[in-house]
Amino acid sequence: MKESTGELLLEPVIGLEIHIHLLTRRKVFAPEGFAFGAQPNSYVSAVTLAHPGALPLTNLACVQQAIRLGLAIGCEINTRCFFDRKNYFYPDLPKGYQLTQDYAPICREGLVQAPLQDGTLQDFRIQRIHIEEDAGKLVHDLSDHHSLVDLNRAGVGLVEMVTHPDIHSPEAAGALLAEVRRLVRYLGVSDGNMEEGSLRCDANISLRPVGETRLGVRTEVKNINSISFVVKALQYEIARQTAALRRGETLQRETRTWDAAREVTLPMRDKESADDYRYFPEPDLLPLHIETSYLETVSAGLPRLPAARFQDYHQTLGLPVNEALTLAEDPAFSDFFEGMRPHTDAPRAAALWMLGPLRNYLHTSGTAIEDIPFSPQHLLELIHLVRNGEVNPQAAKDQLLPAMMAAPHTTARTLAQQLDLMSGTQGADLGVVMDEIMRLHPEELARFKAGKKGVESFFVGQMMRHFKGKANPQEISRIVTEKLRA
Ligand code: ADP
Ligand code: MG
Repeated sequence: MKESTGELLLEPVIGLEIHIHLLTRRKVFAPEGFAFGAQPNSYVSAVTLAHPGALPLTNLACVQQAIRLGLAIGCEINTRCFFDRKNYFYPDLPKGYQLTQDYAPICREGLVQAPLQDGTLQDFRIQRIHIEEDAGKLVHDLSDHHSLVDLNRAGVGLVEMVTHPDIHSPEAAGALLAEVRRLVRYLGVSDGNMEEGSLRCDANISLRPVGETRLGVRTEVKNINSISFVVKALQYEIARQTAALRRGETLQRETRTWDAAREVTLPMRDKESADDYRYFPEPDLLPLHIETSYLETVSAGLPRLPAARFQDYHQTLGLPVNEALTLAEDPAFSDFFEGMRPHTDAPRAAALWMLGPLRNYLHTSGTAIEDIPFSPQHLLELIHLVRNGEVNPQAAKDQLLPAMMAAPHTTARTLAQQLDLMSGTQGADLGVVMDEIMRLHPEELARFKAGKKGVESFFVGQMMRHFKGKANPQEISRIVTEKLRA
């Protein structure tokens, strides 16, 4: 490389390997279950311990989950696939090899559409999705003299989703990961919980001169467990590799780790090549033969995907990007909104009510959206009562909503009547009331006429008092302004 590379314009090239724990009762080739945070080594069978004679058996629920994910992103499903052994020695892997798919992964070539911060959807090309088992966990910090091993996680079913190397910014990689997390939650394929390791990411990154089509030497940052760390690790690698290339250095292909405390990547080991693993087909497991009719059934049962919902909320409803993303983030939350939609001609207002007061209420009361006992239509009635000025917004949030939680089968209107929350202005002539209030407060009126505009709020207060707070504030303001300026 020449000395003049200081001016070299470099383009990042990123590819992600995303590991996703499958939500199934049993492990993928062993009979036991798994629970995060359980007593170490409490979910371990003879198969996981590789006792002589213990044989693996494929958990078809894992295969079904992998197919569901593959079909959701338009992959070609390999209807005759099989498993391979990936050989390596490591204490968290008693067999001495990992069961995975190398030669014939279950899914190939798909497309994930993910929303970017500017509200557009970007296409991300997926190379393959394969099924494999997770390894156990080594614990180095509980003893000064020993490393401990917890095999609970060993054998848990995973899919690994591998992208093509055509992502060009850390932010885009983050957007893809966020979408994959939404996707697996919508599909019920995984809980997508990154803190608990249900979703982890290896980020591969290289740089190349702008205009160059060949790939540069990459590093792989292993096992990152949060989206913001993936973005930061990639930003760090771009800076580190750029500096090295501009100094004229040649980069090494290597595996690195993300140090979250210091916010740097550190070298772990030289990258093994595929030859080192001596992949070969697993003789103890039957190949899979998947019927086309099964694929059709799965396809027909797929939900509307989060990216499509986001686009709809952003474009059709005109919600800002972050609000549209929040509404589409959680499938149960979005489904609740979808439940209101056919019954209202003001979907934007309904969405805003969910994003504002309802979310607030859920947060402060520690309630999950799944635990809301009333129907979307009941919430819609509450929203309409507020919109029509029949119930004051504050009272709707502080009194009517909790009442609906306690009496989920009573309609919002009935509850509002029982709680005496219906607007006290019903049937009253607001103009007449305001005339009377102005007559009773000549001094304040004079001060207003003399230019003290602040006195207006005094009259609003008097009106609200007259109606015992059960009046629509906008309606009151309007009449006060109108009368004072008459
Ligand atoms: P391995 O399994 O050995 O890590 P793969 O060829 O399966 O290698 O690639 C893993 C990931 O690395 C893929 O997401 C791929 O897109 C990405 N990748 C491969 N080569 C490069 C490169 N030169 N720069 C950036 N990413 C790359
Ligand atoms: Mg890799």
